[in-house]
Amino acid sequence: MLLKDKVAVVTGGAGLNGLGYATARQMAAHGAKVAILDLARAEPVAAAARLGDRHLGLVADVTDKAACEAAAAEVLKALGRIDILVNNAGITQPVKTLEITGADYDRILDVNLRGTLYMSQAVLPAMRQQQSGSIVCISSVSAQRGGGIFGGPHYSAAKAGVLGLARAMAREFGIEGVRVNCITPGLIETDITQGKLTPDRKKEIAESIPLARLGAAADVAGACVFLASDLSAYCTGITLDVNGGMLI
Ligand code: NAD
Repeated sequence: MLLKDKVAVVTGGAGLNGLGYATARQMAAHGAKVAILDLARAEPVAAAARLGDRHLGLVADVTDKAACEAAAAEVLKALGRIDILVNNAGITQPVKTLEITGADYDRILDVNLRGTLYMSQAVLPAMRQQQSGSIVCISSVSAQRGGGIFGGPHYSAAKAGVLGLARAMAREFGIEGVRVNCITPGLIETDITQGKLTPDRKKEIAESIPLARLGAAADVAGACVFLASDLSAYCTGITLDVNGGMLI
């Protein structure tokens, strides 16, 4: 029970095949009460109900600052505190540099980067007050290898921005007991990758990875539990690669 009685907020956590839901499920199994935040169409209330009646599902668009603040207030009211935030909500778009429009750029940066800032801002006052907290930001191997397998350059830029933002927040809030770390997943089989790669391409990618397979959502969820728990009490500002050795 690594997270007994902790309260965790997971953004973009409603998709049953996604990294967020896998993380919510593992955190609940480790004793946490979990608030799943997501867009209405992803049905966060139903997703939280699947975890059991200790948990909470809320509709919140992470690009909307007021909605993030309202969701944090709702979690505090219903579950009493916020110990963990997983900034997981994200979108991608498989286009090349010269094809990116201003609207594409705004959309990708807004969800991946602005959303990470707004949700962190929404929970930080409570974490500062209790002098403890762990924020885990989901970046991507795309930020490190300078190009995604299915994400565009604006996605790489947004996810690299997440690394910088997380390190800056780690530096700023460490003194107040709040840790901020990142995970850079490699290619993980979820809805975001579904249908974007042919079976042959998947096989080719798997053969190029030292651990010889694509990742599973549970692989990333385990890393989130580690960074959220006291097992990582002396880690802040780190980037944990969960990519099967893709960058070796
Ligand atoms: P997913 O599409 O299954 O999950 C993303 C979730 O974010 C969805 O539930 C979606 O409804 C939600 N979301 C989208 N826009 C939102 C908004 N404005 N406000 C609130 N929620 C919103 O994808 P996934 O693969 O589970 O991705 C989860 C995270 O992991 C993303 O940040 C993604 O960029 C990152 N990532 C995924 C991979 C991979 O290979 N799957 C690799 C590296 C990083």
